[in-house]
Amino acid sequence: MVIIAKKGTSDEKINTIVSDLRKQGLTADVRKSKEKTVIGVVGNTRAVNTKEITSRDYVEEIVAVDTPYKRAARAFHPENTIVHVAGVPVGGKKLAVIAGPCSIETTEQIEGVAQAVGEAGGSILRGGAFKPRSSPYAFQGLGDSGLHMLITAGRKAKLPVVTEILSAHKLDFFLSENVDLIQVGARNMQNFELLKALGRTRKPVLLKRGLSATIEEWLMSAEYIMSEGNENVILCERGIRTFESYTRNTLDLGAVLAVKKLSHLPVVVDPSHAAGKRWMVSDLAKAAVAVGADGIMVEVHANPDKAWCDGPQSITPAVFAELMQDLRRLAPVVGRSI
Ligand code: PEP
Ligand code: MN
Repeated sequence: MVIIAKKGTSDEKINTIVSDLRKQGLTADVRKSKEKTVIGVVGNTRAVNTKEITSRDYVEEIVAVDTPYKRAARAFHPENTIVHVAGVPVGGKKLAVIAGPCSIETTEQIEGVAQAVGEAGGSILRGGAFKPRSSPYAFQGLGDSGLHMLITAGRKAKLPVVTEILSAHKLDFFLSENVDLIQVGARNMQNFELLKALGRTRKPVLLKRGLSATIEEWLMSAEYIMSEGNENVILCERGIRTFESYTRNTLDLGAVLAVKKLSHLPVVVDPSHAAGKRWMVSDLAKAAVAVGADGIMVEVHANPDKAWCDGPQSITPAVFAELMQDLRRLAPVVGRSI
């Protein structure tokens, strides 16, 4: 349920209504914008005396939120949320460009890519230290030492970093290393214990869409994080499983439009894991921006054919720099900057 207060309602009146609701065991979060104040109410809202609330002269209207996700719903937060990743805004006018290798391999590799990403104008460095591989015999990532190499490379190149967490057991380590943005991979989108643990932090979370998750399931996973108090959630569309096997997954760009309508959270698109083919990555990234994504995430490797993980879908630093040039021309067409 959302209570909309009239423009200019005093803080005192807002506080009164909030404390009345909290006394009834409900949670009430206040969002103020230039236009109005919105109070998002979660809990057993059926017990709320809506007649009494609407009779208060400063209440404009009460809107029932009929989706199972509440805090992630657009109604709870009419304006777009901007998540700040160590000073880099994601969700505003400026596009976020996340780039880097699938996995961290060596100091030279990650520092070289970091420098190339920074020079080309990328905004966040990616790199996996803990890799969720389909085969237990495949390279699983360098683990703690890889994560440390990523942090060092990011700090040197003056780029915030994003890396994937596989288990809540590693959360303390991620926090102590000060990872700027913690990625929940597609395979963990419904690892609810992990989501709740991340929700108890205030770290920005990049929540990838599960391989076969509906948009509603994806937003419910965001809700898990937000229900624990962490509102810093960035969604990432990375392709879903369909009957099509030409591409690794099927990039669902319609989902970007749907999520932008249903939710206030920023959404970025990862065309690398969606396509699985490097020749498609730049064009799909441009399509994502054209459709309204708040940013992109692409895999970049200096020598993709030698990459330890996801080489076929990795682009070179030179191709990445060309993509950045194209995005600079495209961004203003869709009301964005880069
Ligand atoms: C990744 O980003 O390297 C990754 C494993 O992604 P996903 O969870 O989307 O497969
Ligand atoms: Mn990958």
